[in-house]
Amino acid sequence: MNPSTALPHVVIVGGGIAGLAAAFFLRDEPVRVTVLEGSPALGGKLSVSEVAGVPVDEGAEALLVTRPEGTGLIAEVGLAGDRVAPGTTSSAIWTLGALRPLPRRQFMGVPSDLAELAQSGVVSGAGAARASQDLELPPTTRDGDVPVAAFVGARFGTEVVDRLVDPLLGGVYAGRSSDLSFDATMPTLAAASRRYRSLAEAAGSLLPPPSSPVAVPVAAGEQGRAPAGTRSGGSVFTTLSGGLGQLPAVLAKASGAEVRTAAMTRALAPGAPGAPAAGPGWRLTVGSAAAEELIDADAVILAVPARPAARLLAGVPGASAAVTAFGEISYASMAIVTLAYPRSAFPGAFSGASSGSGLAALGWSGYLVPAVDGRAVKAVTFSSVKWPHLAEATAPGAEPLEIVRCSVGRIGEEALLQRADEELAALAAAELAAATGVHGAPVAHRITRWGGGLPQYTVGHLDRVARIRAAVATQPGLAVCGAAYEGVGIPACVATARAAASQVTEFLRGGRQ
Ligand SMILES: Cc1cc2nc3c(=O)[nH]c(=O)nc-3n(C[C@H](O)[C@H](O)[C@H](O)COP(=O)(O)OP(=O)(O)OC[C@H]3O[C@@H](n4cnc5c(N)ncnc54)[C@H](O)[C@@H]3O)c2cc1C
Repeated sequence: MNPSTALPHVVIVGGGIAGLAAAFFLRDEPVRVTVLEGSPALGGKLSVSEVAGVPVDEGAEALLVTRPEGTGLIAEVGLAGDRVAPGTTSSAIWTLGALRPLPRRQFMGVPSDLAELAQSGVVSGAGAARASQDLELPPTTRDGDVPVAAFVGARFGTEVVDRLVDPLLGGVYAGRSSDLSFDATMPTLAAASRRYRSLAEAAGSLLPPPSSPVAVPVAAGEQGRAPAGTRSGGSVFTTLSGGLGQLPAVLAKASGAEVRTAAMTRALAPGAPGAPAAGPGWRLTVGSAAAEELIDADAVILAVPARPAARLLAGVPGASAAVTAFGEISYASMAIVTLAYPRSAFPGAFSGASSGSGLAALGWSGYLVPAVDGRAVKAVTFSSVKWPHLAEATAPGAEPLEIVRCSVGRIGEEALLQRADEELAALAAAELAAATGVHGAPVAHRITRWGGGLPQYTVGHLDRVARIRAAVATQPGLAVCGAAYEGVGIPACVATARAAASQVTEFLRGGRQ
């Protein structure tokens, strides 16, 4: 290939949703794109495999429709017809000995209707009384970013933090509200809280009027649990009938890029004597030391988590501020334990529950478990209730299956995750039995471990991201995208991918980043 006539080469490191979306957004540009995925499989946290013959997501399972980026991408790759809406999204909290309704009038667990909070039974009578002091207390001042628990606790007391806000944040970040940043994980509420003395009123200002058919915005993490409904009456979540995990392969194909798996990028250095067209270029070292390959690029997009990004930038002069800031982003590990039961294993309708049989009789799409209750499982999704197409996927003539997704592991609980697969499955099944009364062992189970799966947006996160972005902007033809920056949910990752694609396109056109 004659370097002077070749199209500029963009190399994207990381074949998760962010890297693949960036490749897709470059599809019509006059560039050659290569995606280098280190693992044997594309998709990162998007992956689907069968449990008892039914395709069920192993990682991300739903995306928010209230941000257009995720659904827009699905439409652009031609999968809009495969979108399915949840059958129900009303969640419970398993606490104080029972499954109790997650209050509908809440924003990431921050209640706006204190009477509804008291009725829910999620907090004790004393906890509800303390929460109502929010309406009377003088303004809570803060100087800069603070932990969510500190601010919300000052307004409502610790029970609301422990039994509502912490479980909801835990469901998104696998993190603790005592560490997570108010500004980064709940930016709109943090901003509203500066306009209202009462935090309940600030939360209420972000919710639709109580009479409307429910539209509950979810905070920056985005894939939290919310009562169903958009302003137009639809659900706030969607998935794909074959699982969200089918998206990466479709995206890779539609991008037209050369997409390589088992292509671990081990080093990145500025300067590419081989083929640069638009600047000094970049040289990537790919593969094992024994079978090393050098790839030259005009522009590089790093679509990897913070740790690999820091390792790659360590060899780049002038990027040390980014390396330092990346080093400050910690990650939580977790596991998804997926269990399948015959429908008859569930004991019919519970008192106060809606009609239906099996798991649907409970009337919930799942439940969250506060860390203070000392359980291993932090969140449970009744997948075959939330996604009715999964219930319908059972083999004809066979007893219908109920599929349950149990999420295990909050930050700091790595020892729990080191247990053997069988032990984790048994633990999850035992806790499910205690919460729902299901009897007998599951007929199938699957354990998916996500080591370092979710970045922690701890206090100071926005500043960290600003330092990373400022340092990266000084590097010609370099951009970053993914979950480490402005949101861990899929739409937020896609938004960073689009921005990264625009940045390298502008650079290659001769503009400055
Ligand atoms: C269990 C779980 C459930 C979730 N559920 C939801 C949900 O329901 N809805 C939602 O919106 N979000 C959900 N999320 C969050 C969301 O899925 C992720 O934040 C998002 O998929 C991250 O995408 P990414 O491309 O930034 O990173 P990743 O998916 O981590 O992809 C990065 C890729 O880079 C590769 N890589 C790393 N280093 C190198 C290297 N040196 N060279 C080459 N390749 C490298 C990795 O192998 C990986 O494939 C969930 C996350 C987890 C862990």
